[in-house]
Amino acid sequence: MALSLVNTLTRRKELFKPLRSSQVTVYNCGPTVYDFPTVGNWRAFVFDDILKRTLQYSGYQVKQVMNLTDVGHMTMTEEQKLQTGPSDITDNELGEDRLEKTARKTGKTVWEVAQFYIDDFVAGLVVLNCELPDVMPRATDHIAQQIAMIQQLETKGYTYITKQAVYFDTAKFARYGELSGQKLEDKLVGAREDVHVDPDKHHPADFRLWQINQPNHAMEWESPWGKGFPGWHIECSAMSTAYLGAPFDIHTGGVDHIAVHHENEIAQTEAALGVPMCRVWLHNEFLQIDGGRMGKSLGNAYTLQDIIQKGFNPLALRYFYLNAHYRSKQNFTWEALGGAAVAFKKLRKITAELMASTMPATVLPVYADRFVTAIEDDLNLPQALSVVWDLSKDGQVDAGAKLATLLDFDRVLGLQLDKGEIPDAQVTSSTGEQTAIEALVQERVEARRNKDFRRSDELRDQLFKEFGVVVEDTATGPKWVRKS
Ligand code: AMP
Ligand code: ZN
Repeated sequence: MALSLVNTLTRRKELFKPLRSSQVTVYNCGPTVYDFPTVGNWRAFVFDDILKRTLQYSGYQVKQVMNLTDVGHMTMTEEQKLQTGPSDITDNELGEDRLEKTARKTGKTVWEVAQFYIDDFVAGLVVLNCELPDVMPRATDHIAQQIAMIQQLETKGYTYITKQAVYFDTAKFARYGELSGQKLEDKLVGAREDVHVDPDKHHPADFRLWQINQPNHAMEWESPWGKGFPGWHIECSAMSTAYLGAPFDIHTGGVDHIAVHHENEIAQTEAALGVPMCRVWLHNEFLQIDGGRMGKSLGNAYTLQDIIQKGFNPLALRYFYLNAHYRSKQNFTWEALGGAAVAFKKLRKITAELMASTMPATVLPVYADRFVTAIEDDLNLPQALSVVWDLSKDGQVDAGAKLATLLDFDRVLGLQLDKGEIPDAQVTSSTGEQTAIEALVQERVEARRNKDFRRSDELRDQLFKEFGVVVEDTATGPKWVRKS
């Protein structure tokens, strides 16, 4: 086995060596349960599933923990979020706790809101054929562990208290900023300056461990510092330690978590325990919508429900994600999803026909080697899909062996290739195919403009393998023709 992964912490592609031979320990930052996840969030969670399946395919036993953030945290407007990234601003400063806001709008309690979105999230994992994590701890069920960790930090001198909160004192943690490569001095002049914060806070990067004196907050617990509730970051440190110990093997999340949330997790765990939190940090790049940002106010924060309502099989969305490397930005358009749906349907048809005519025989070693090489190269799923298409079009190999190999690859892909054809009623029309091709050609233009040549190569490959389309770059822009 030679799985290599690009570790955000070292900025290098490293050969993966688990800490224990028996089990690989993985922690994924999970959803905040006050609303439906967007297709952007689902990109992160499907990536987590692909990572788990790849590790399993490579012969490892995996323990996967994904937290559920069910403590209400602070509102930031989308503009503020854009300027500052996720932060730790209080309700009083910037309006309402997000869970409380949903509760008020729907006439439910915060607990009912959280439960509703947890159930919805788990159902979403199931329809996207993600294996359920081994543990999905809720932050509200682990208040004692969070308080205990804050006490450890306090005993070791890493905290201070103001009228509003117990803070982590980032100046005391020398390695603060290692993950993002940002120096603490730079954070001083960061964009967060223009957001009003606690006047008694020592440094802009200091973050809340426990909030106090916020009497209108619906969720609160007793603590040594007074009634209140935990800051957001501490739940991940406390719960990963509780279920995986420290250090554990792999931690994941979207790139937006690097600079604040994960930096803070590292600071808390390592200051409290005196050992590294985790060995390998993996971050998925963002999904964009129509080449730009997604947001509620923009009306493009599509959810899984939107996908299903439009008539798509949810696994077409899963297939869509597989087409971009997790470290590349990916562009969501309805046309591109339509293209994924066409290709996904074709693949299911190929396997369904094989299943009708033959029994699975032995896995083909040449294709299996190519597939393994792709997934073990920092989870290069677009490359792996390209192997899948080469195999499915190969007329020289034995049908039973082809079937066995496709079903074997599906242990990683998770496309339920053994479940038969996709009904015609689902959105996969040929007009969709034409626009899908154009959407992919356009995305390739964008990728090249951004000098993301890996992504532009992936798109060229995808166009050829899935649609038989060849793109030529001419002086007047790209031209495409069908070769098959
Ligand atoms: P949240 O519920 O906001 O904490 O997000 C859940 C996960 O989705 C986190 O790992 C985020 O980093 C990730 N995420 C948020 N937006 C996007 C996006 N547009 N594309 C990919 N991942 C995202
Ligand atoms: Zn986290």
